[in-house]
Amino acid sequence: MDFKIATIPGDGIGPDIVREGCRVLEAVGKKFGHSFTFTETLAGGAAIDATGNPLPAETLDVCKKSDSVLLGAVGGPKWDNLPGSKRPEAALLGLRGEMKVYANLRPALMFKQLASACPLKAEIVEDGLDILIVRELTGGIYFGERGRSEDGTTAWDTEKYSRDEISRIVKIGFESAMKRKKRLCVVDKANILESSRLWREVTESMKGNYPAVELSYMYVDNAAMQLVRNPGQFDVIATSNMFGDILSDEASQVTGSIGMLASASLGDSGPGLYEPIHGSAPDIAGKDLANPLATILTCAMMLRYSLKAEREAVAVEAAVAAVLDAGWRTGDIAGDASRDKIVGTKKMGDLVVQALEQ
Ligand code: NAD
Repeated sequence: MDFKIATIPGDGIGPDIVREGCRVLEAVGKKFGHSFTFTETLAGGAAIDATGNPLPAETLDVCKKSDSVLLGAVGGPKWDNLPGSKRPEAALLGLRGEMKVYANLRPALMFKQLASACPLKAEIVEDGLDILIVRELTGGIYFGERGRSEDGTTAWDTEKYSRDEISRIVKIGFESAMKRKKRLCVVDKANILESSRLWREVTESMKGNYPAVELSYMYVDNAAMQLVRNPGQFDVIATSNMFGDILSDEASQVTGSIGMLASASLGDSGPGLYEPIHGSAPDIAGKDLANPLATILTCAMMLRYSLKAEREAVAVEAAVAAVLDAGWRTGDIAGDASRDKIVGTKKMGDLVVQALEQ
């Protein structure tokens, strides 16, 4: 197959990690007989510097014509004082909206090799931690009607969901569960919120299509607690925009390794948007210190979800595991690794490529 990938290196460590992601995809191409054509384009601070606009029209055009988009990260202190719509982060919202990617998939995976970085007690995570959070991304309270009273003393935001908006997320939840441990937990606040009750109604109407999936519901306050009390009970969580925003950050921090976590944002058709969950890490930019593994694992998600190349995705994940098994670490995940096993961004990319070639 010939895959067209739009790359948006962005700012800070973005260019370093995207470069390694592309090298790994090229190695996948060699091994499995695909070709990847990369078109690099601008967004975020880099785009502001070059064009005055965080998301130039040309970038959107390149992204929409691709099979998938790989984004590094955007933002940094240089652009922090710009007004909201001119800031680098505006590019992220613009991309999600324009590409109509309504579902955000965020795996929170604790690698057994890095278990010592997990902030929870060892006995709590002895069964491992491997959760996929499916978050609704373009609806709910972040997009609902908002306002202030004339005298400014009252403000409101509105949580509003349609059946269609809910069912397309729950469907991804069920289908993802089918490919994993077959457990789906819909997180809501159905004891209080009418919109949550609709989430349950819609989910109930769909569950018959997935008899193999064990379905449960949990109130969001309890879910926040259970994620630190007994995270092993979760397989796939499907939830609304705001609840997913909060829970996915909590879940990723529980793994202890921000430099290892990937994400995918998907719509009905058209390209997916793939990015590591971390930011542009200005403190280590350009120093060959960034961990490229989150981006490399993001490429595995791209292979799996957009390029329908499951075998290839598994190969990338296995290569990362092999490198960790051999004891190689970047500084952020070094723990008590010996100094001769601590490597920079580029060397870590080399090691994954070598593991893939074996
Ligand atoms: P951050 O994720 O960039 O960094 C937090 C800490 O984690 C830093 O100490 C950093 O060095 C470290 N870190 C992050 N990724 C790493 C990696 N791959 N390897 C090694 N260490 C890594 O978050 P922040 O400091 O809050 O934000 C910095 C900038 O990034 C801000 O401008 C913020 O707006 C932006 N940001 C962008 C995105 C995005 O593009 N999706 C997401 C979050 C933050």
